[in-house]
Amino acid sequence: MAVSAGREFLAIPGPTTTPDEVLQAMHRPALDIYSNEMVALSEGLHTDLSRLFATKGKSYIYIANGHGAWEAVISNVLSRGDKVLVLESGRFAVGWGNAARAMGCDVEVLQGDWRRAVRVDEVEARLRRDTEHSIKAIVVVQVDTASSARNDLEAIGRAIRTAGHPALFMVDAVASLGCMPFEMDAWGIDVAMSASQKGLMSPPGLSFVAVGDRARAAHQRAGLRTPYWDWTERDGPEHYQKYAGTAPVHLLFALRKALDILFAEGLDNTFRRHHLLAGAVRRAVDVWSEGNMLGFNIEHPDERADTVTTVRAAEGHDIAALHRYCKDKCGVVLGVGIGELQNKAFRIAHMGHVNAPMVLGTLGVIEMALSALGIPHSRGGVDAAVAYLAENVPA
Ligand SMILES: *Cc1c(COP(=O)(O)O)cnc(C)c1O
Repeated sequence: MAVSAGREFLAIPGPTTTPDEVLQAMHRPALDIYSNEMVALSEGLHTDLSRLFATKGKSYIYIANGHGAWEAVISNVLSRGDKVLVLESGRFAVGWGNAARAMGCDVEVLQGDWRRAVRVDEVEARLRRDTEHSIKAIVVVQVDTASSARNDLEAIGRAIRTAGHPALFMVDAVASLGCMPFEMDAWGIDVAMSASQKGLMSPPGLSFVAVGDRARAAHQRAGLRTPYWDWTERDGPEHYQKYAGTAPVHLLFALRKALDILFAEGLDNTFRRHHLLAGAVRRAVDVWSEGNMLGFNIEHPDERADTVTTVRAAEGHDIAALHRYCKDKCGVVLGVGIGELQNKAFRIAHMGHVNAPMVLGTLGVIEMALSALGIPHSRGGVDAAVAYLAENVPA
């Protein structure tokens, strides 16, 4: 017996649910890529991406996923042998660092812990020890999608300035842009990147890089530049050069519609919605945790992301069975534990096109699975989530 008819629901942290209007926006013929309509569409998107990143700097659109944008950033600002300091808080900044190492950079990982955000005082102390300023770039994620840690970028930016260190501050906002406040210029971020398929509710295949003045200056000296990623090439006189070839027309139609939806809601409202829905998830996990069999991966409540929640299970519980039950019996796909949390955790994504029924439905299915599988937990997680939303979403 199953209760899974209809559309499967993706509660995974990317690709996320694409709104019907975004899907429909692609259901049309391609544009002439040299037409005024195409140029206007493209220029509007570049401007709106800089607005999302909150920067006066320019944005670039790549036909690539987030891994491609990582490589775009590295190649545009660094040279072989440059030292990169990776601030670990899970898997993704380390992944970006691995790409830099493979491209010839000298990568040092400031060791963190999968259970917490980056410690800002440790960053400042490491930078103060680098009296010769050999570190050229610092890379960090806003949200680590594996651990579900949220890093305090504003505080990290302040620490870099307090240490008087000139390294570029480079941020991955793939799992947070369009879901949580992001202030590139105000926080002193030099380069930021993101992708289309998470908070931005669009199909996978596009990624974005926003560039500040200091990164632009580093670009002039960078030795790793290659034609496809190169900002100077993309700034050339022909609009065609923006994509180093044919524009991904249909993905741009989708992104246009997704940004229209975001701006119509109002970014502050979008952030508030994410915060409330994340709060509901956290209430449920709080209750389930009372039995000490399940618990938050991120120990400190202030360091938990508003876009994804990683839940650990004590040894000996069959987390694969929980995933199977949710998917096969109920049509809800949860995120799996990755990296050091493989088979030890599940992840609930709450980013992008999410609303109360989606989140409460997902929580309900998880609670149903915990009961059906006999995984010890305190009951009433969904009740707590409902009560929290009722309290915070007044009539
Ligand atoms: C998903 C993700 C990436 C990788 O993006 P892809 O599009 O899968 O290459 C990078 N960083 C973070 C924080 C992510 O969540």
